[in-house]
Amino acid sequence: MLEALHGTHAVVLGGAGFLGSHLCERLLGLGARVTALDNLLTGTADNVAHLVGHPGFRLVCYDVTDFLYVAGRVDHILHFASPASPVDYLRWPIQTMKVGALGTHKALGLARAKDARLLLASTSEVYGDPRVNPQPETYWGNVNPIGPRGVYDEAKRFAEALTLAYHRQHAIEVRIARIFNTFGPRLRIDDGRAVPTFMTQALRGEPLTVHGDGLQTRSLCYVDDMVEGLLRLLASDHVGPVNLGNPREVTMLELAGAVQDAVGRHPGVRHLPAMQDDPAVRRPDTRLAERLLGWRGRHSLEDGLARTIDWFRGRLAAAAEQG
Ligand code: NAD
Repeated sequence: MLEALHGTHAVVLGGAGFLGSHLCERLLGLGARVTALDNLLTGTADNVAHLVGHPGFRLVCYDVTDFLYVAGRVDHILHFASPASPVDYLRWPIQTMKVGALGTHKALGLARAKDARLLLASTSEVYGDPRVNPQPETYWGNVNPIGPRGVYDEAKRFAEALTLAYHRQHAIEVRIARIFNTFGPRLRIDDGRAVPTFMTQALRGEPLTVHGDGLQTRSLCYVDDMVEGLLRLLASDHVGPVNLGNPREVTMLELAGAVQDAVGRHPGVRHLPAMQDDPAVRRPDTRLAERLLGWRGRHSLEDGLARTIDWFRGRLAAAAEQG
């Protein structure tokens, strides 16, 4: 299925971020040419430093909410530019709304100009604090538009609506991935999401900080599995949103236990106040992805955590060296 990507030119918006950099690497491995555009708001050129020098790769420092132009043929546009962790989008609320709205508009304009296919990185957050568990693609969600998290959730809901408007009005080829929590190497230690926070704390021997009672659930997908699902979706012919994620649901306390087991240190947990509008449950219904794409993650949560430890060890050592 992915052989179709060989010899194509992909433009990855947010290509220096966590998911974007893994996508660039995999696309190059499949024989595609890749142009990564990133303003380095939450990403870093270090994420793609190993790709610089590859004849098919180019990194351009650029804000995709500005006019967007790429010379020559473009086959695919992967729109992965957006702050993604709550820490980041609470710090950059206006930038988050701009990149979800204006950035998506520019990306769709480029897709129209180049007759290219666009893959939008949407999110499980479009379901908000869901009243239905697991969440199928047909569920419309339960989002507080004016709460602090609304900037991210509503930007993504707008981005989905705009993407389908371009498909309906201009016949642009579009794909929409509703991505559930994903983790792996290249997450920042100060990213604020559960896995980086817990892993950093466990490695330092500090208690793991859990918001609220810790009984809220999440599903966590290892990054290699997510990249495989995303590229299969890109290469597929399905237009509507598709959930991608790990269907196994764990509580935050279970995740804290799994991280401590993986690291081999058990400093315990410390409870912090619950976060406003924090979803109580989160679990993808992945039957559509399984049927359409023949996709299901291969890595268990434990396996993924084991593959991620060395990355955080390295980051902590580098941080200690810098003082
Ligand atoms: P990330 O913060 O690591 O990557 C986002 C990248 O976008 C960064 O490199 C950042 O500098 C760049 N960016 C932000 N605004 C930009 C702008 N205006 N112009 C150019 N570049 C800009 O986050 P991530 O986890 O890799 O997420 C990537 C995408 O996937 C996001 O759209 C996010 O909403 C989506 N997503 C991620 C997850 C996850 O678990 N990682 C879950 C759901 C959705």
